[in-house]
Amino acid sequence: AEREFSIRTPKSMEKYQAARRVMPGGDTRSTVYFSPYPITVSNGSGPEFQDIDGNHYLDFLNNYTATIHGHAHSKVVEKVNQALSSGTSYASVIEEQISLAEILCARVPGIEQIRFCNSGTEATMFAIRVARAFTNRAGIIKMEGGYHGTHETAQIELFNTQQAPVSMGIPVRVAQDVYAVPFNDLEAMEQLLIQRAKEIAAILVEPVMGAAGVIPPLSGYLAGLRELANRYDVLLIFDEVQTLRLSTGGAQSKYHVTPDLTALGKIIGGGFPVGAFGGRADIMSLFDPANLNHLSHGGTFNGNRITMAAGITSMELLDQQAIDHLETLAKKLQMQMQEAIHRLFVPASVTRSGSLLNVHFTEQPPINYASTHRSRKDFTQLFHIELLNRGIYTAPRGMWNLSTVMTDFHIDQAVKAFSDSMQVIAKCIE
Ligand code: PMP
Repeated sequence: AEREFSIRTPKSMEKYQAARRVMPGGDTRSTVYFSPYPITVSNGSGPEFQDIDGNHYLDFLNNYTATIHGHAHSKVVEKVNQALSSGTSYASVIEEQISLAEILCARVPGIEQIRFCNSGTEATMFAIRVARAFTNRAGIIKMEGGYHGTHETAQIELFNTQQAPVSMGIPVRVAQDVYAVPFNDLEAMEQLLIQRAKEIAAILVEPVMGAAGVIPPLSGYLAGLRELANRYDVLLIFDEVQTLRLSTGGAQSKYHVTPDLTALGKIIGGGFPVGAFGGRADIMSLFDPANLNHLSHGGTFNGNRITMAAGITSMELLDQQAIDHLETLAKKLQMQMQEAIHRLFVPASVTRSGSLLNVHFTEQPPINYASTHRSRKDFTQLFHIELLNRGIYTAPRGMWNLSTVMTDFHIDQAVKAFSDSMQVIAKCIE
């Protein structure tokens, strides 16, 4: 599979060699890399893009769920072009920022007030900071395998019952204030709260785990978290950077559980750098600079005109009809994937919530991070390259997501490539 990949992508290979001279690993995002080397893209339109060797791909990664309306959507392009000619960023208020804030406050139940930043990383960082400021406590409980960006608190993980930084360069003492429990396990959460609630500012959770493998909450889990947070008097933060797409008001609308704070990103920027965090007005008011003693939050490009214009357009395009369309296509994709898996007797499963899916090489779909460890990493890697060779672009770890510009035609193409690639895996097992 890698040989065929290399034959199809000689120019990408050349670019990779050149890029490595000026950037370690040839790029500036760890998640873009895969072995033997990532492809270099020239341009995209709608649900497709092209690499510099002229290969076409259907994009089932969509910049890790950010480009929900595909590439170069005509409405987004039009609005961004208009915004460009009015000046892009000022150290003052612009009306577009107020408009996007109004849209998001109206759509997301847990957001009464909101502030913008430039990445999901900043969004979770500030949600955590304001939770700590409001409660005057330092402790954060996250989920094992929960990804919330790259700031220090977010980069703590459990290693054999001991929490520690996942990366070099993070002081070990940061881990003192970060606890991790398994997702979908209310009892583990309550045990921790019984011991530690007095030190805990907030529980931080993705309502559907993303990077850990698109793991939906078991029935009653999120409501249970809400109840525990109330009972033990800690705040509940939802990281909806990926899950906002699950309904017009995010996973909190879909699952009917309202958090105290919410972190957003990706789709609310229409393809431009963005993050936002919001929540209860009594908490968010800590940021009010009219108060002498306020929580400071700077950012040169916070709420800039390009991002706001693209974001407003992206949210307007993501109406109920668009979400229903995504749901219908995703359901069909999942069913046909599962059909191929059963037909070929491969020990694999497909998890899904809305238009987010993940292929796992485990017979049982995982319900938490630990249960994803059984997945065959070698199969995941081979499957990814097999899909690439058939013009289907997905996350190397097996995550798929849809864009609103896809149709049945694209799903059918994907299912064909999926089945053919799964046949290769089936042969490995024989
Ligand atoms: N939270 C979640 C759930 C994410 O999926 C991501 C990005 N994949 C982030 C936070 C960080 O966002 P960003 O890459 O914009 O910093």
